[in-house]
Amino acid sequence: MAEPIRSILVVGGGTAGWMAAAALKTATGPYCRVRLVESDDIGIVGVGEATVPTIRDFNRMIGLDEVAFMRETKASLKLGIQFVGWGSENTTYFHPFGAYGAARDLGDFHQVWLSLRARGMASGLDAYSLCTQAAYAGRVGPLNPDPRTPEGLIASAFHFDAGLYALHLRKVCEAKGVERVEGKIVEVIQRPDGFVDQVRLEGERTLDADLFIDCTGFRGLLIEGALKAGYEDWSHWLPMNRAVAAPCAKVGPITPYTRATADAGGWRWRIPLQHRTGNGYVYSSQFIDEQAAADRLVQTLDGELLAEPRHLRFVTGRRKAYWAKNVVALGLSSGFIEPLESTSIHLVHVGLNRLLQHFPDTDFSEANIAAYNRRVGRDVEQVRDFVILHYHLTQRQDAELWRYVSAMPIPDSLAERVELYRERGILLPLSADDYFSPTSWLAVMNGQGVEPRAHNPLYDLNNPQTQAAQLKRIEEAFADVAARLPLHDDFLRASGMAE
Ligand code: FAD
Repeated sequence: MAEPIRSILVVGGGTAGWMAAAALKTATGPYCRVRLVESDDIGIVGVGEATVPTIRDFNRMIGLDEVAFMRETKASLKLGIQFVGWGSENTTYFHPFGAYGAARDLGDFHQVWLSLRARGMASGLDAYSLCTQAAYAGRVGPLNPDPRTPEGLIASAFHFDAGLYALHLRKVCEAKGVERVEGKIVEVIQRPDGFVDQVRLEGERTLDADLFIDCTGFRGLLIEGALKAGYEDWSHWLPMNRAVAAPCAKVGPITPYTRATADAGGWRWRIPLQHRTGNGYVYSSQFIDEQAAADRLVQTLDGELLAEPRHLRFVTGRRKAYWAKNVVALGLSSGFIEPLESTSIHLVHVGLNRLLQHFPDTDFSEANIAAYNRRVGRDVEQVRDFVILHYHLTQRQDAELWRYVSAMPIPDSLAERVELYRERGILLPLSADDYFSPTSWLAVMNGQGVEPRAHNPLYDLNNPQTQAAQLKRIEEAFADVAARLPLHDDFLRASGMAE
């Protein structure tokens, strides 16, 4: 007879490992022993520093004190991503959190907007996003705004120091009763049926468990090393395979958004924190070499370089099974869709939600595991398509990379979405599991210069003057609210989130 899971071993103490330990201990309480093993010698990848608003749900799930978390991880608020040079070399657009428009009785905002714009009666999209207005004014909203107030339309995520985040979550986990073991795993010991029985650490110590969570980063020590799950390579759609990262000194007020600037061989990120600015150049080794990428990164910093550039390698794609036997892979061990939309930490959270929905007992039902793998697979593919969209829609032809990505084949699922928008301005209805909202798809399609050939003609039947007046009211209200929000640095200090 199947027994309940009584012990879980989280293998790896990066962002994924500590998130997993926190969520699993919170969910299982005293009924399950949760241990985490990590190696100080190996360390963590330490570059995932930008998030999306679902991190707020994760924080609620584990009961995190967000003020202490922000203070201790030197965090800043993020209201979206500014994309520089993606549509063409000289264009900039903003992908905001939250939604465009505000009046629910308008119908599909984007159809109203397309209809009015065709008559020259609407402003650019930025005017209808409160997050964009606030971000460009350097202002932020309350973390938990009253949804009945105008500020209620602000949706925030965080930028944080990844090293400090792992330390903070460790403290939270240990207070919940998670046991931490330091040591380097040198062998994964399997039962005859292939299930993992225990891991052996240097110095002959062993750790056993009913369920193992593989958070060992790109290594995939259990899911690949022991269980040989296999890897599906997505480089033909997502050709980035290297990054170089370097922090620089903070200059000026903290901007409440991430910046992603397209460059000849890839793109550069800028992530502002309280104590420094994180920077990186994500590139494809097919189009630029390591030294040129590092030089370019250093030349473009807006503050003094604080540490030697650090080089990373990866292969975009996913593990063919996220869960095999009694091993569930989370974080980089489960795959990686490059960091353009800051979605890896979000996908750790998604994986944990699904794991709790499909929580096993010791019979490890095959049907349950297959359902988990299917669902997580869909979640990951949606994110993959959205990231590919940015490359596919570029009009840049100034460098080999951009000529390649603008012509490369794309997944059918994405081709359908792009064609429907091009033809009739339709943003495909979302399934309940879709993370990226119509606002996100519209921001990128429009930001990169896609002009739909038509829109839904029903929206032309409405009185354009009335609708234009409604949009005008939204625009004025957002500009007014944004101008009254506190400046980012002031807000962090006043709320105890910064010293
Ligand atoms: P790691 O941080 O690599 O942790 C692996 C852990 O496993 C470590 O504790 C290590 O000690 C342990 N370990 C490994 N082998 C052994 C062993 N033999 N014995 C014992 N312990 C072992 N994500 C975002 O959401 N936003 C971003 O902005 C973002 N930017 C990124 C930029 C780049 C260039 C890259 C590469 C990734 C980025 N990510 C981002 C992804 C993000 O960094 C990761 O999803 C996140 O940090 C989780 O990493 P991890 O915990 O899976 O792996």
